Amino acid sequence: MAYVIGKACVDVMDGACVDVCPVDCIYSKPGDNQLFINPEECIDCAACEPVCPENAIFEEDDVPDDQKEFVKINEEYDYDDSEPGHNV
Ligand code: SF4
Ligand code: SF4
Repeated sequence: MAYVIGKACVDVMDGACVDVCPVDCIYSKPGDNQLFINPEECIDCAACEPVCPENAIFEEDDVPDDQKEFVKINEEYDYDDSEPGHNV
């Protein structure tokens, strides 16, 4: 299980979540249109969820039905080609 960044982050990307993540598992690279949570590194601490001004972050089971594709989008992002942090 992991937290997931959904569609409200798209084109916002202010990076508030990055500042509170204790394990640096939120990634981005220049050119991205949102940030991504690496599900293999997320420890489910929930720290990021309340600080997101767009309410874009959900625990995996709570992702709204119309945003379920974001579970896969966060899962399949190329983390090897990106870096932890707010790099957009
Ligand atoms: S739930 Fe915790 S570990 Fe997972 S992305 Fe959010 S702040 Fe980071
Ligand atoms: S705090 Fe929310 S809107 Fe800002 S970068 Fe993180 S997920 Fe995106």
